Formats: sequence, structure tokens, C-alpha cells
Amino acid sequence: MAVELDPPPSVAELAERTATFVRDVVVPVEERSGGVAPDDAVRRDLQAAARAAGVFAPHVSAEFGGHGLDMRDRAVVFEEAGWSLFGPLACNIAAPDEGNMHLLEAVATAEQKERYLRPLAAGDLRSCFAMTEPAPGAGSDPAALITRAERVPGGWRIDGRKWFTTGADGAGFAICMARTSGAPGDRGGATMFLVDAANPGMRVLRHIETLDESLSGGHAEVAFDDCRVRADDVLGAVDEGYRYAQVRLDPARLTHCMRWLGLARRAQHIAVRRAAERELFGSTLADLGMAQAMIADNEIDIAASRGLIRQACWELDRGQPAAQSAAMAKVFTAEAVWRVVDRSLQLCGALGVSGDVLLGRFLREVRPFRIYDGPSETHRWAIAKRVVKAARR
Ligand SMILES: Cc1cc2nc3c(=O)[nH]c(=O)nc-3n(C[C@H](O)[C@H](O)[C@H](O)COP(=O)(O)OP(=O)(O)OC[C@H]3O[C@@H](n4cnc5c(N)ncnc54)[C@H](O)[C@@H]3O)c2cc1C
Repeated sequence: MAVELDPPPSVAELAERTATFVRDVVVPVEERSGGVAPDDAVRRDLQAAARAAGVFAPHVSAEFGGHGLDMRDRAVVFEEAGWSLFGPLACNIAAPDEGNMHLLEAVATAEQKERYLRPLAAGDLRSCFAMTEPAPGAGSDPAALITRAERVPGGWRIDGRKWFTTGADGAGFAICMARTSGAPGDRGGATMFLVDAANPGMRVLRHIETLDESLSGGHAEVAFDDCRVRADDVLGAVDEGYRYAQVRLDPARLTHCMRWLGLARRAQHIAVRRAAERELFGSTLADLGMAQAMIADNEIDIAASRGLIRQACWELDRGQPAAQSAAMAKVFTAEAVWRVVDRSLQLCGALGVSGDVLLGRFLREVRPFRIYDGPSETHRWAIAKRVVKAARR
């Protein structure tokens, strides 16, 4: 079968427009703030500019104001948006909103789509996804889920504690994963609930101080105490939450890879420009072998990440099970973007750790990606288990 690597002309054009928009409009805002998450007024301004440039919400369907890109086409456009830490926010494809839109489009009822997806896709509100819990609750092992939802007349009552809920502070609603049957450790029995931020049973307890600071709303610890929701606020079917989590997680892992790959390219761009100009030992840095090795290794990491991402996207677009290829792309890209940013910083010498370039900020932003969306070790473990299982068949 022929492998077509070039995107359709309309997608190539959208990617180019996104690249121009991000470089001209978004990067100056990012550089002024040092890459720390902007306030909501700046988010809205950036999103209005993205809408005017025709690069807003490329992933959602036309019905909800987007371009309806499939995964392969997202890979091309999201990489360009990722050139800046704020590019995804401006284009309304930042985590966790982008993954939540994908999930809502796939699973929500028509009424839920109008209530949550439409304003989210329009950038009128933000959202969060509350799955991870403080130990001994859900983390690398989602089956450890402790938060419970009990049936009450007219709906459900949710009780539990979540943490690392990105964007919870200031979000309009949460998608909360709670146990509706079984006990912690059971592989089934979870349900997703849509919870309005105005619900008095949902409270942001604190901001967690973290290495990364570029995502709107930061990362929060969130309490669900006697949190009452309607029967209509169940997202999808009761006890099917783990299945829907997969609907969200494989694509969300890949879109994270796409965005961070764009940032890795920016780091390489900064480093190569510096290396081409910096004179030392009678030549430029770019003419010295060990520097060339770092530049070449960056190119190899970028190209290899892109190849793995696009392979997994291709499988998802064909409706194939892509857990293995998405896991491989996730592990490789999370580790590769770290290497690329780290080498780029090294190539820039003291300038690299200074606030005059954002490489130090980039390094802090990409490091947690080796933990969220499944730590590298969890994925390696799962990849190996699938390979061994296939060999035993
Ligand atoms: C910046 C950031 C943002 C996040 N945003 C969200 C969010 O919006 N919503 C949400 O629900 N969660 C979010 N998370 C949580 C994230 O999904 C969890 O941190 C992740 O699933 C790991 O869980 P844990 O932190 O409890 O680590 P643990 O489960 O305690 O794992 C600790 C370590 O154990 C190791 N390990 C794991 N599995 C294996 C294995 N099979 N073999 C050997 N070693 C292993 C890994 O090194 C891992 O880092 C976020 C996390 C971060 C850091």
C-alpha cells in the first residue's frame, strides 16, 4: 500500500497559516510573559486573533466551529501551533480542553454537546479532567480509583478527592471519573460525570506548585463532597468510564506529542541560529564536531518522533486499535523532546539558562510529559506485555 506523507493542500495551507500566526502574534505575547500562563483576558484576546486568522479550533467538526481535522491532519497543524507555549491556547487546542472536546464529540448526548462542547469549542469557557487522585488512589494504575458516585433520587452523589486536575481553577466544568461499582483495584466500574464548576459540591482546595507553569489554571487539588449531579450528567453509559478514558487518552497522548514536538523544533531553531553565529576557537560553534553531533541528534529525535506520531495517527484514523503505537509514540516523543530541549540549551551555553531565551522555561514545561498521560515506565511495561502476549499465542 502506498504511504502518503504529504497532507492535503488545504491542511498544508492551514498549517502554514497557523505557523505564521503563532510566530507573528503569539510568540511576542509568550516572550513578554516568560512563558508563564497568561490571564483569562489575554487568553480571550489571543483566541479572538486566532479566530480572525482562521486558525481556531481546527480539530472540532464544522458543526461546532472547527475545521474537522482527522488525527493525521492534526499532527501537521498542532505541531505548528506548538512552536509557542501559548500557540495551543490561542488556537483552542491546549490540554485538557482539546482532549475534552474530542471526548465530548465522541460520547456526549446532543443536549450535553450544546451545553458543554459548544461553549468549550468557542473558547467561551475552559474545562478540566479529574481522574488522578492522591495516593493510594488512581494514578499510573487507573483501577485504583477511590472516588465514589452513589445513586440518589434524580441523579448521583459524588465523593472523593482529586489532584493534578489541570485547569480546574477557572474552569466552567469538570469531567470527573468516579467509581459506580466494584472496589478500588477492580478493572471496571468507573463512570464519567459532567460537573458544573458552580456546583457547591466541587471545590478547588489548592494550587499545586509545579515545575511547569504555562497551562491556564495550573494544576489543582479538588474536592468532591456530597456533589450532586443529575442522571443526565452521566457522560456516556454507567460503568463504561474506563472505555471512554481510552477514547480520550490515545488521541490526547498523541496531540500532546504533536504540540511538544513543535516546541522541540523551536528549541532547535534557537540553538542552531546561535551555533551558526557564535565564534569560538577560530570557527563558529556550528563547525565543531561535538556541536554538530548535538544538532544532528536533535534532528533525528524530531524526525523519529514525527514518524511514530503519524504512524499512530494513521492507525487511529483507520479505526484500528492504536494502543501499542500510541504508547510507543508517547514514550519516545516525551523523552526525545526533553533531549532536544536539553541539548539546545547546552548549545547556547550560559545564554541557554538565562531568561533572555526561553529554553529554561521549555525544559521545565516538557519534563512533566514523561509522567502525565502515563509515565514512560507504565507504557514500557504495557508495550512489553503486549509483545510477549502476542509471542505466546
Ligand atoms: C503536570 C501534570 C498535569 C497533570 N494533569 C492531569 C489532569 O489534568 N487530570 C488528571 O486526572 N491527571 C493529571 N495528571 C496526573 C497524571 O496523569 C499522573 O501523575 C500519572 O498518571 C502518574 O500517576 P501518579 O502521579 O500517581 O504516579 P504513580 O502512579 O505513583 O507512579 C509513580 C512512578 O511509578 C513508576 N511506574 C508506573 N508504572 C510502572 C510500572 N508498570 N513499572 C515500573 N514502574 C512504574 C513511574 O516511574 C511513575 O512515575 C497530571 C500530572 C502532571 C505531572
